[in-house]
Amino acid sequence: MSDPITIRFYEELNDFLPADQHKTDLNYELKKTRSVKDLIESIGVPHTEVDLVIVDGQSVTLDYLVEGGEHISVYPMFESLDISPLNHCQPQPLRETRFILDVHLGRLAAYLRMLGFDSLYRNDYHDSELADISAEERRILLTCDVKLLMRKQITHAYFVRSRQPRQQLLEVLSRFDLYNNLQPFTRCMSCNGKTRAVDKNDIEQHLLPKTKKYYEKFYQCETCNKIYWQGTHYQKMINIIKEIRSSAV
Ligand SMILES: [Zn+2]
Repeated sequence: MSDPITIRFYEELNDFLPADQHKTDLNYELKKTRSVKDLIESIGVPHTEVDLVIVDGQSVTLDYLVEGGEHISVYPMFESLDISPLNHCQPQPLRETRFILDVHLGRLAAYLRMLGFDSLYRNDYHDSELADISAEERRILLTCDVKLLMRKQITHAYFVRSRQPRQQLLEVLSRFDLYNNLQPFTRCMSCNGKTRAVDKNDIEQHLLPKTKKYYEKFYQCETCNKIYWQGTHYQKMINIIKEIRSSAV
């Protein structure tokens, strides 16, 4: 039997542990040699949330083999501290920020689309499809499902903590530092297609009489043809965006 290992999780990684295991050294007996990724995930923390693993004072990658007796510290992404010389577990950020969301995050998907982010969502995606599409199309997977994040093929992902869609949106914008990349009303909230400005004369046969009377500027989805105008819904969205922008300061 090998010596027990000591492992400690830092900062928001404690969100994945029971309260009595927060911010404390945990001791485990190892039955056999295993990768540090397996060990961390067996305790409940998905690898996608981990950016730095220190074993006996050295930074290691997730495939490091733990044999027994080690002291292990596990850290999430550091927002501001420069730790560039160390071995990061997370790959470089994707050049283009695109998302795929699990079946529970429909409202969040609509909010992200409202702000112009390419966000795939369907209420019937299976876990394996979500994982495959995330890996193949290089989309950041947003999910509330810890088990889904433990799939090895997933490299770019985020565990959404809040159950409240507006709060979820703020979490995602902060985590990926997106406050300067907002392009409101460039994408269809229903289908994720791109929208473009259209001439009122070209679409007026589709408008209700009051809409036709009071509004002049219209946008149309290039994919599903849904028409958008700057009505009361628009004003509500503008207010949400203002709130988001002010909370970013
Ligand atoms: Zn559309």
